[in-house]
Amino acid sequence: MGRSYLFVPFLFNTFIMSKTKYIFVTGGVTSSLGKGIISASLAKLLQARGYSVTIQKLDPYINIDPGTLNPYEHGECYVTDDGAETDLDLGHYERFSNVPTSQDNNITTGRIYRDVIEKERKGEYLGSTVQVIPHITDEIKYKVKFLGNKGDYDIVITEIGGTVGDIESLPYIEAVRQMRWEMGHNCVVVHLTLVPYLAAAQELKTKPTQHSVKTMLEQGVQPDIIVCRCDRHLTRSLKDKIALFCNVSVSAVIESIDAETIYDVPILMREEKLDIEVLKKLQLPYDTQPDLTMWEEFLRKYKNPSMDICIGLVGKYVELRDAYKSISESFIHAGTSNDCRVNVKMVHSEAIEEDGVEGHLADLDGILVAPGFGERGIEGKISAIKYARENKIPFLGICLGMQCAVIEFARNVLDFQKANSTEFNTKTPFPVIDMMEEQKKISGLGGTMRLGNYKCRLNKGSLAYNTYHADEIQERHRHRYEFNNEYINDFEKGGMIRTGINSQGNLAEIIELKGHPWFVGVQFHPEYKSTVASPHPVFVSFVDAAKKYHIKYTGDKKQSCDDTDKNDSQHEQKD
Ligand code: GLN
Repeated sequence: MGRSYLFVPFLFNTFIMSKTKYIFVTGGVTSSLGKGIISASLAKLLQARGYSVTIQKLDPYINIDPGTLNPYEHGECYVTDDGAETDLDLGHYERFSNVPTSQDNNITTGRIYRDVIEKERKGEYLGSTVQVIPHITDEIKYKVKFLGNKGDYDIVITEIGGTVGDIESLPYIEAVRQMRWEMGHNCVVVHLTLVPYLAAAQELKTKPTQHSVKTMLEQGVQPDIIVCRCDRHLTRSLKDKIALFCNVSVSAVIESIDAETIYDVPILMREEKLDIEVLKKLQLPYDTQPDLTMWEEFLRKYKNPSMDICIGLVGKYVELRDAYKSISESFIHAGTSNDCRVNVKMVHSEAIEEDGVEGHLADLDGILVAPGFGERGIEGKISAIKYARENKIPFLGICLGMQCAVIEFARNVLDFQKANSTEFNTKTPFPVIDMMEEQKKISGLGGTMRLGNYKCRLNKGSLAYNTYHADEIQERHRHRYEFNNEYINDFEKGGMIRTGINSQGNLAEIIELKGHPWFVGVQFHPEYKSTVASPHPVFVSFVDAAKKYHIKYTGDKKQSCDDTDKNDSQHEQKD
């Protein structure tokens, strides 16, 4: 009895400890080298060899999550099924791997400290002085291993945000050092660094890489694999030099050359054998070939579209490449599945307010009005919707875009003058969009919206039903305001119909317009669920409608699609 009592927990621990393998991805020299894409591409390759993989991002800032950051600070805020407001890299992880992420896939310094302080208050460290080492580093390690154990994954890839050498990253690199020491070959470190080309010397330079590896060594971590971001090929002698200076074998120096599209990166990493190098280090078998047939087929179709169409994206962050990341990626997936290239023309909603719609929206094959918060640019969005409605141009309104479609219809079809959302005018005589009852009691702004997956029933025969081919769907939300059901009869009589209704309550999740070829407003965010393997049906159907519109009306007319509205410098307000 005594023996087995001791033996069972020992076996159990060994099982937990050795089952999952851990890969850390760190960055050196500069930010924006594409750690997220490298992590997602590595996950794709490992998955294609049959391993179950999840990817986690550790963000060294003090916000609890990026939900309260504006897009100028941090690009798009991505939302998971379980309602976490997360870093946009999680969007890449899902789009590449087709596996949903969760709260546990994005951890910030704020969350680590909050959880440690809560434990301290509960008395969990009674008697000890609570310190960065071991308490903060233990919490970091716990959150990494928790994900591995929870999801029953073969491999967890953990991307460490920021750049080695940053003050904020120190506890994370220390946690990596400890995990490598504890786990031996069950843990590897991939370091992504920059090998810049100096025009004056006409040479690629390895010194920044040497320095960033030295910085890691000072913190006790020897990277196992060095991925070198460069704009031209690394010669064998450069790889030798990096290997020599950074204590790795030459096969562990991987070239990551600038790619035509992020979706090329898994293929490039396969050619460079990044996956093999990682598996060798983790002592896992690597004799099979990764099956990327579907991925290659996607790339082939993406690069050889049979036609081009042009869709306008009306928003107020058009100058920020990352603000509408998931929407632009969804267009790539949906375009490819429709055998066409969707060129997205970014249209500044305030520019529409200044110049009128015609100059900005004429000749487009479809119009999407973006999600957002705050009053800035709202009237421009409403004018764009009026134009799409009256000219029967395919229209998709997402979240705020749907709410603006409701306001536009109230004002211009139902003649509810000054109709508005109470987000923008609390005294409007027609509050057609209003705050949800539960929201009125909430005071804080972090994590307090309607967030994550909600079920929605679809009306048979509606465009939505024919798009999803399902009675009930689940989509991700992120908002405080809703369609005000007091007005539902007026809207339905006028021709704007609720075709998707929240399964628990009576909330309008989808609206459509009778007599219009394709006019859909969704209170949720379809863009968060579109992946390469599974393009989102709403985007697929919208692009299909835009394609038909193009063939019927636009044809060979010249479209000014590359022409993102330039006059944005005066719109620098941060909301
Ligand atoms: N501002 C709106 C709300 O909170 C819409 C939010 C959004 O577009 N994500 O309801």
